[in-house]
Amino acid sequence: MIVLKDSKALKKRLATMRSQSQSIGFVPTMGALHQGHLALVQQSKRQCSVTVCSIFVNPTQFNDPRDFEKYPVTIENDILLLEQNNTDILFIPSVAEMYPEGLKDGIHYDIGYLENILEGYYRPGHFQGVCRVLHKFLDIVEPDVMFMGSKDYQQCMVVKRLIELFAIPTRLQIVDTLREPDGLAMSSRNLRLNARDRQSATAIYHALNFIKENIHYKEIVGLRQGAAKMISEAGFEKIDYIEICDAQTLQPVTNIEGQTKLVALVAAFIGGVRLIDNMMI
Ligand code: AMP
Repeated sequence: MIVLKDSKALKKRLATMRSQSQSIGFVPTMGALHQGHLALVQQSKRQCSVTVCSIFVNPTQFNDPRDFEKYPVTIENDILLLEQNNTDILFIPSVAEMYPEGLKDGIHYDIGYLENILEGYYRPGHFQGVCRVLHKFLDIVEPDVMFMGSKDYQQCMVVKRLIELFAIPTRLQIVDTLREPDGLAMSSRNLRLNARDRQSATAIYHALNFIKENIHYKEIVGLRQGAAKMISEAGFEKIDYIEICDAQTLQPVTNIEGQTKLVALVAAFIGGVRLIDNMMI
């Protein structure tokens, strides 16, 4: 695996590979890698000739500076895991490399209503930061395919919009959420949970299953209340949202119509750690 910190060096290498008709797959991450991230790498390995993974904890997408400071960093283990999964190139730029203009100034991305609902509502500016960094990465890597996880469902929708807005010639491939054996969605943030909270955290998965199993038997209000009770009783101190939305638009639904594809989404805090998850209904 080649490890690069310099975007010009990366661009140059990729230009050579592209001139040899090699297709490029890209997996952007913030590190503290787990099997969920590696599922993206494996998909890329299957579909593309060259797999580039980036590790960059992007300061502009954190609305809470403490969350940024506490974000787990496990770079040595990450390198090992990427090596074991035959990643071709690892790109680990510094903040100065990604933001030579400084962190403050940036263009505004017109992602419409997606900006202010769910994650956008509870993390103001988050998706502007996501768009800003991914726009830069897409410009540097110019991948044929970019691989992202459906665990970050709204993020995938925002990135689709970014690709459309700038007519970027990259296909977005969305990969299913990988879960621990007890159902908890794999996440770098799980590393910050103590043993008791780690066990209780599965309540999000059980609440999502409760919604799925009862979708034809209960009103939306009852589903949300039942899920909230399960999550609170498990020891979560705060629920940001539990929503049942149209899977295409992410607009919350108020009653259930047979044909509409739905997704249930949750964000909640346990032991000061904010976890998100979702499930197609
Ligand atoms: P992150 O490092 O959290 O920014 O995640 C990097 C990429 O991995 C994003 O596209 C995530 O959606 C994806 N990802 C995170 N957790 C999982 C998971 N449990 N299963 C599949 N993909 C995931």
